[in-house]
Amino acid sequence: MTSAMTCPACGSTEVSSSASIQEIAVPFSEPAVVDEVVDVCRVCGTEGDFLDRNQARVEVAVDAATRESVRRMIDGLGNQGITMAYFERAMRLPQRTLARWKGGECSSPGVALLRLVSTYPWLLEVADDSFDAIAAQQKVVEAASRVLRGMVRRQEAYGPVLAGQPVSTVSQPSAGQPISATFVQR
Ligand SMILES: [Zn+2]
Repeated sequence: MTSAMTCPACGSTEVSSSASIQEIAVPFSEPAVVDEVVDVCRVCGTEGDFLDRNQARVEVAVDAATRESVRRMIDGLGNQGITMAYFERAMRLPQRTLARWKGGECSSPGVALLRLVSTYPWLLEVADDSFDAIAAQQKVVEAASRVLRGMVRRQEAYGPVLAGQPVSTVSQPSAGQPISATFVQR
């Protein structure tokens, strides 16, 4: 690069740059790690990304972490006995859709759907029942009952962990951890 960087505030070319590692949380993945640049004007003290280089780096890192998360979510569902074929059938997706997603061609709506199903795998059963309202309510109650039974089991094993703790700290399975659910494949 031949032209010197100038400060957007005062126009000075007395600009120094340093690197800063940023971690951006991506669901069901390790955080995206971005090597960002921080430019500082030595004359007026203005700080920032004067040449707009960081946005592209963030997108590259988040895209890579998201693609990895797609592979993990599909593998995680497979570990619970939920095949790609069942997912596609229940959600009325074309065959081989999940294979394409896993291969890196997953759109934003696809990622969002995978995150929802990875968090609430019983959504597939609701979909498989054509989103029947009564059946859907039944699935919610069954899922809540599984969560409550799990909390009681943990309480029996580790003592009264619920006392004084927000429910979210004991009920949230961490990313990639299988969620106990029984799946009947049709
Ligand atoms: Zn300046």
